[in-house]
Amino acid sequence: MTENMPEHVTQEFLDIIKLPSPDGKRLNYLIVMPRMAERDDISYPFPYGLCIVSSALKASGRNVFTLNLNYKQNHLEHLRNFIIDNSIDVVLSGGLSGQYAILKEIFDTAKSVDTDIVTICGGGIITADPLVAMQAFETADYGVIGEGEITVNELAYAIETNADSARICGVATKSGVLPTRGEIANLDCLPFPNYDGFEFELLVRDGLYSSDRFATIAANVAISRSCPYNCTFCFHSSGKKYRRRSLDNVFEELDWLIAKYKLTHFTFADELFIGNAEFITGFCERIKPYNLTWGAQTRVDTVSVEILSRLKDAGCSMILFGVESADNSILKSMRKNITVEQIDAAFDAAKQVGLWARGNIIFGDLEETRETIVHSLNWWKAHQNWTIYLLWIYTFPGSHLYKTAIKRGIISDPVKYLKDNRMQINVSKIPDKEYWDMVVNVELFQWLYGAGIDVDIEALDFSVVAKKLTDLCVSGKVAVWPIILTVAEMLNRISPEFVAHPNTFLVNVNPHEVHSKGVFEITGKPTLLPQVIEDNQIETVLYAFPQFKSTVLSEITMMIDDLYPSVKRIVTIKDLLD
Ligand code: SF4
Repeated sequence: MTENMPEHVTQEFLDIIKLPSPDGKRLNYLIVMPRMAERDDISYPFPYGLCIVSSALKASGRNVFTLNLNYKQNHLEHLRNFIIDNSIDVVLSGGLSGQYAILKEIFDTAKSVDTDIVTICGGGIITADPLVAMQAFETADYGVIGEGEITVNELAYAIETNADSARICGVATKSGVLPTRGEIANLDCLPFPNYDGFEFELLVRDGLYSSDRFATIAANVAISRSCPYNCTFCFHSSGKKYRRRSLDNVFEELDWLIAKYKLTHFTFADELFIGNAEFITGFCERIKPYNLTWGAQTRVDTVSVEILSRLKDAGCSMILFGVESADNSILKSMRKNITVEQIDAAFDAAKQVGLWARGNIIFGDLEETRETIVHSLNWWKAHQNWTIYLLWIYTFPGSHLYKTAIKRGIISDPVKYLKDNRMQINVSKIPDKEYWDMVVNVELFQWLYGAGIDVDIEALDFSVVAKKLTDLCVSGKVAVWPIILTVAEMLNRISPEFVAHPNTFLVNVNPHEVHSKGVFEITGKPTLLPQVIEDNQIETVLYAFPQFKSTVLSEITMMIDDLYPSVKRIVTIKDLLD
């Protein structure tokens, strides 16, 4: 059975897309949501864009099936059977650059059923560097660049009528890229995202789709597309021009979502939520009577005490600010167009009105030096009452940093770069060895600081921790949870004996990495799925995540207790220092 017609199909939209020709072939389309959740009890970022493309194709009256590969046993076998049982002719999927492996497995599976099945990929992974992505996806026939709603219908029409697909704007093939299509000017004409067949109701039922610590019944809604700024680490997959929907259109979607799914919380997934004060005033007036909670992200230079107080009064429970650095020279190099003083003012304003504010510092800009890192860390230490995470820049395809890295030869093979999905690279002024040492030092600094130990990052002493780590693995089997590249490198630097010891097991809970590499090695040691704990009856877990928060630890402790009865104790870095 194909799925229901989407909500809000306008005549304007039907007038600008290619509807099926009466003389064309009647094909069966399948839109596949990639498998992102490795386990059945965790949520995953529900791909809003894929749901709108699904709507756009359904709105044309084409025969569209949908399949969500999350929470499926043997998901590729499931996909294979679905394609055969429903005589699928065209398989579509899409996502971001970091999702190469989980998209590739979809196209590979489709082609393994029948090489005549047409495969189409869309999303940021294609838009960022279309020819590179098409080369990396050996089994994808077409790529859809940028916003897919119109292009996907034109491509479908060409396939149905054997027309020349090489004339469609916004399509990439193995041999070339056609002129890009202009951005969709009137976002109000688009159908609402269609969740039917994607099992969204299961996430809602099980309270799994919660992007905010206050909410369990939540959904994403995008009010606008793109952003007028061009920060060097960022890439706009929906075009360069900032556009916004009308309030009437946004609230029609909210009404529909609330009525259908009984939602009580929304995350406004805009790149830039607060475009101007007039818009946000109107938005707050409209949303307040709904008595919902909601969260959004915005720039620090768009807020004031008045605006944040209006947001809070209208139900906003969390605001995410783009902080990026606490050093003005780095903010300038990032083309962020903000200052540390504006960051301070924004967080102060949030505190004043009692609104929970979060932000990230991302180290590793082109102009970053040891001194600017220390500068940002000192600022971070001085603002412990704010929720600021310390991260490192990932060089995503399409960004200015990516283009610079190619120009400088830091990325010598972009296809391999996409396939390998190791996008933390050194593009800064810091020499390589020193950069990776700093990565480790910052992680350790966070560990120690989170454990209540103030240290000078320039003079870290690992000897106490090294001895305790060695004692730990000598006395029995230890699972390091969760292992990520920086944690592994940090542990390896502190105690290579601990990492190499046969009693030490590195547990990888990142589904993207597990998908992309299977059981892969970090610092010469294989990383393993959490199942290894049960298989080896491991009694000790070293909680290794650097963002130490007691609430997070207690959640993880409960989860490990529940899933892995062999575990008798969970050790933190603080325990190793006592
Ligand atoms: S980081 Fe934020 S402000 Fe900068 S370009 Fe991206 S979305 Fe816009």
